[in-house]
Amino acid sequence: ALTAGIVGLPNVGKSTLFNAITNAQVEAANYPFATIDPNVGVVEVPDHRLEELTKICKPKKTVPTTFEFTDIAGLVKGASRGEGLGNKFLANIRETDAICEVVRCFRDKDITHVDGDVDPIRDVETINLELIFADLETVEKRIGKIEKKAKSGDKESKAELDILVPLKDILEAGKPARTMEYSKDEMDIVKQFTLLTMKPLIYVANLGEEDLENPDANPYYVELKDYASKEGCDVVPICAKIESELVGLDKEEKDMFLQDLGIDESGLDKLIKEAYALLGLNTFFTVGVDEVRAWTFKQGMLAPEMAGVIHTDFQKGFIKAETYAYDDLIKYGSEQALREAGKIRQEGKQYVGKDGDIMFFKFNV
Ligand code: GDP
Repeated sequence: ALTAGIVGLPNVGKSTLFNAITNAQVEAANYPFATIDPNVGVVEVPDHRLEELTKICKPKKTVPTTFEFTDIAGLVKGASRGEGLGNKFLANIRETDAICEVVRCFRDKDITHVDGDVDPIRDVETINLELIFADLETVEKRIGKIEKKAKSGDKESKAELDILVPLKDILEAGKPARTMEYSKDEMDIVKQFTLLTMKPLIYVANLGEEDLENPDANPYYVELKDYASKEGCDVVPICAKIESELVGLDKEEKDMFLQDLGIDESGLDKLIKEAYALLGLNTFFTVGVDEVRAWTFKQGMLAPEMAGVIHTDFQKGFIKAETYAYDDLIKYGSEQALREAGKIRQEGKQYVGKDGDIMFFKFNV
């Protein structure tokens, strides 16, 4: 499964957020794979469409799809020079598919900041610099290795060098690798180095409770948003403390609590959805009287691969898929009506899945 790593300086609210995540963790009964590395939290992906499908199909149970966060503790200044648990920290980030960077925006004089005062941009730059240094080392090493071959006319090495040299300049200027533009070929070259600053990133602005109703009234949050937009990154406002209080509640209590705070969605729910989208993940559904269930697939997957998300045997023996769009089901009200309107399609091995597809796979066993 794809995973988003949670990083941040000490005392910004990471553990508070990660505790909320592990307390919201899915029940192992429905997700036997969700066994359990203490640093991993598997949460349900909130999706209002599941509620609608449940109303229409009245199944015995409804099962959301899941998303995985990893707690990556141990970032300190100097990590890229191997200080603290630096190397381990960087290796752990390398294994994740996206980064959620928690940034302190809450004011609380009782909670000390490692660098004295609250300053989100300085914090972000501290972290990003460590990641940039680590990437710079990777790139420089590689350049050293292929330089000679490139100069002696080896085409592949030359192509590689042509992208690595400007990339090195970008990193040396203190900018993340993702801020550079790449052709498809260049991207294929750069991908193999799994650079840390190439990974998609979301900033998580940890706000005070009092800021939630109107985050823009918090100048730290506004600063962070401006900074992030220049990098093409999103910022999710959250109050980690509130999230840790929300997890014990049932849905009704939670909605009431959120209403009291003046917001319509919890920050964690927002973060889950953003991280899911950032990784290019989509959802398809299977529906029946026993179970309505959401499944995660990667944008661009073909029907047999989608079947493989459910079970490898479905993929191996794939014959075809009967499918219709969630939106059509809502519009027509029932499968029967869809059938009469000719909205149910038969699709073969070349079908590219769409978000919201409802799928029935036919396969040989
Ligand atoms: P970590 O070192 O980044 O994991 O930070 P922690 O989650 O341990 O939080 C550090 C301190 O900040 C703890 O005392 C938390 O209770 C407090 N804290 C975390 N989030 C918030 C918040 O949103 N508002 C306030 N006022 N305090 C918070």
